[in-house]
Amino acid sequence: MANKADIIIIGGGIIGSSIAYHLLHDGFGGRVIIFEKDGLYEFASTPRSAGGFRQLYTTVINMQLSKYSLQIYKDFSKAMAIDGEEVEIDFKQRGYLFLAMEEMMPNFERHLNLQNENGINSQLLQKNDLLNIIPELKIEDLSGGLYCAESGYLDPYSVMQGYIKNAKRLGADYIYDEVDSLITNQDQIKGVRMADGQEYFAPIVVNCAGAWASILSEKAGLPLPVVPLPRQIFQFDIEKPLKKYLPLTMDPTGVYFRHEGEKFISGYAEEIAPGIDFKWRRSAFEENIWPVLANRIPNFENAKIERGWSGLYDFNTEDHNAILGEYPTMKGYFVAFGFSGHGMQQAPAVGKCLSELICTGKYDTLDLTPLRVERFAEKQLIIEDAIY
Ligand SMILES: Cc1cc2nc3c(=O)[nH]c(=O)nc-3n(C[C@H](O)[C@H](O)[C@H](O)COP(=O)(O)OP(=O)(O)OC[C@H]3O[C@@H](n4cnc5c(N)ncnc54)[C@H](O)[C@@H]3O)c2cc1C
Repeated sequence: MANKADIIIIGGGIIGSSIAYHLLHDGFGGRVIIFEKDGLYEFASTPRSAGGFRQLYTTVINMQLSKYSLQIYKDFSKAMAIDGEEVEIDFKQRGYLFLAMEEMMPNFERHLNLQNENGINSQLLQKNDLLNIIPELKIEDLSGGLYCAESGYLDPYSVMQGYIKNAKRLGADYIYDEVDSLITNQDQIKGVRMADGQEYFAPIVVNCAGAWASILSEKAGLPLPVVPLPRQIFQFDIEKPLKKYLPLTMDPTGVYFRHEGEKFISGYAEEIAPGIDFKWRRSAFEENIWPVLANRIPNFENAKIERGWSGLYDFNTEDHNAILGEYPTMKGYFVAFGFSGHGMQQAPAVGKCLSELICTGKYDTLDLTPLRVERFAEKQLIIEDAIY
């Protein structure tokens, strides 16, 4: 029976591991196997993420996912402790700040109202208020900003490890091997075939393979509009320290920056062709990021780049949001990918809710049906204005 399970999860990143953990934590008694092809998580998106968590969204579903997940992250270290040893996730509630030019303010005001109606403590800041948060900020071209003090950033790798260790503790079986393809029989999923030809069987297969997930799905004739999209991050240092720690700050140009320890990281939404590419380019920092940073905070003028990396978004080309639930034409085949740039912060809610859907056939904690697979055919896209 070694090749039989009740649930197979493809991909042991933050999403697959959160689902595995929640299934077992919430009482699922069957065998759960997680296949992970990259045991060191060298290329997985989770450890390459910027670690930002925010609630400044413009759709109710994203606000709900982030709000729920933030409550979990607040208590994550203690709640996930094993044998008294806490999981240190470097949780920093230093705020999330979108800077605004004059023409952006009416939209931000609209977003603020919707966020406040949904229990999110965001504030619309006027130009001079920005200096209370970042005293060195150059504000001449700005009119204000949208700010949420509760948000911030954390260490995604440690969160992922917290879920992995706890899923294993509860009996999840991690097998470090590559899934080659899905095994199906007409409209029922049957299992997976490994790269070496071995087969594993289960009535439920959950595809959490991140940037590789749509390729696997497409191979089985079950397409979804998701592509791997490279995104770079750069770490730099400066000579003259800032007076305060930064919130995760989004410039109107789309360049974001935050503290990383006593140093800084920054990135931007580069226009680049989809594909699997892990190269990072110093020139991208010099040409596209540094001019913005230097213009915004004088201390950044002599930014010294120390390192960079590139990771992959599982980029949903239709509406840039997660795709969650059972594939309508394939019984037992569940998907959880397409998160684009905001999957890390949604992992706690997604794990909890997908576990409910898989076990009971319906959502209980949050209704995630707006993110269903069928929304593309039904033209019910979830259009989020605040996505980068
Ligand atoms: C540069 C960058 C910055 C980001 N910043 C943020 C941010 O600030 N905030 C935020 O919330 N999100 C951010 N994200 C997005 C976030 O990282 C992802 O949404 C999230 O990590 C997705 O988790 P995952 O588990 O689905 O994917 P992954 O972490 O990639 O895990 C998927 C796993 O599946 C495995 N796998 C794939 N194919 C197979 C196969 N065939 N067989 C077996 N295993 C397989 C992979 O090896 C991988 O480990 C960022 C992403 C990038 C790249």
